[in-house]
Amino acid sequence: MALNLPIYMDNHATTPCDPRVFEAMRPFFIERFGNAASRNHQFGWQAEEAVENARKQVAELIGVSPKEVVFTSGATESDNLTIKGVAENYRERGNHIVTVITEHKAVLDSCKRLEKYGFKVAYLPVDSEGLISPDDVKAAITDKTILVSVMMANNEIGVIQPIAEIGKICREREVLFHTDATQGIGKIPFNADELNVDLASMTAHKIYGPKGTGALYVRRKNPRVSLASMMDGGGHERGMRSGTLNVTGIVGLGKACEIAGEEMASENERLLTLREKLRKGIENGLPDVSINGHLTKRLPGNLNVSFAHVEGELLLTSLNDIAVSSGAACTSTSIEPSYVLKAIGVSDELAHSSIRFGLGRFNTEEEVDYAIGRVVETVRKLRELASVWEASAKTGI
Ligand SMILES: *Cc1c(COP(=O)(O)O)cnc(C)c1O
Repeated sequence: MALNLPIYMDNHATTPCDPRVFEAMRPFFIERFGNAASRNHQFGWQAEEAVENARKQVAELIGVSPKEVVFTSGATESDNLTIKGVAENYRERGNHIVTVITEHKAVLDSCKRLEKYGFKVAYLPVDSEGLISPDDVKAAITDKTILVSVMMANNEIGVIQPIAEIGKICREREVLFHTDATQGIGKIPFNADELNVDLASMTAHKIYGPKGTGALYVRRKNPRVSLASMMDGGGHERGMRSGTLNVTGIVGLGKACEIAGEEMASENERLLTLREKLRKGIENGLPDVSINGHLTKRLPGNLNVSFAHVEGELLLTSLNDIAVSSGAACTSTSIEPSYVLKAIGVSDELAHSSIRFGLGRFNTEEEVDYAIGRVVETVRKLRELASVWEASAKTGI
């Protein structure tokens, strides 16, 4: 079978919309365009019914009541709403938040914003495999702590944090526990009660749904979480998120959750086999490669690899028919090594020559075979060139 190039292996950045999700969304663009808040006619009722059906699909996947699901524009908004909404409503109880240095920027920058307004934030470190220690969380909680926020699975190195243990600690200390579960929900089992999670962020476009729609789980009892809204207006979503609902996107999110729940077990097995094939193919083909992040406490589709003795940018441009991410991000002024790789002790130089592979639902074994061949061949060639260059620089030829 012929391969379609370029190959997409960047499924932690976003995923294609599953055609089944798109088909579920289709009628809501044109025929069923109603506003879910319109109470006086069938157009509104149809839209509302679709939204409530999607709410059930989301709730089912994460083991909560549909009333505890708030639709948002994505995980960035869900993270912001959580951190700023808890900060505002629990201010009297305390001004302290506990989080982790490898969190997504949506969490870190929300916390930084709060620091400007007098909040204190503990940014916990991770070990060399990317894991945080529940004991560190326990030690960081003070009588002023109102929120602990720890991501479920990391978007760069795929590491899965000990959410259940941290949840237990937070419950004992009566501190609210939020998890940015954007990379976890739909990919690994999640149950809010079992994990003692009070708030959880998710987004459709990382689980084969559309961009621009997400959700926040907000616990309604034991304890009942109170959130200040960021968007004020018509009082949609029980006052927590005003604004006309994105019915089409919400239908897509619901369908994406339904499919993820049904296919999770078999898909995980398939992805793990592909990921391990990719890992072994690269490791067997090349010396001086290292895998970043814990090997087994890890999303099945994630592989993050550092290649010593190659120039990072050159590596990425040479692999132009495989869409992957590098261990560095462009800012307005420079190329910065990933703060997540830095946090696990990867040197700046090695971070620059790191690649994140994100395998997903539509990747095939042929694509993985192709990627192994291209990566091994490219790194070998670049290393040879580099050593010829170095030798000639030394001898002055
Ligand atoms: C992608 C991602 C986000 C942001 O989600 P959006 O829906 O794009 O705003 C937040 N957290 C994590 C862990 C992510 O991977």
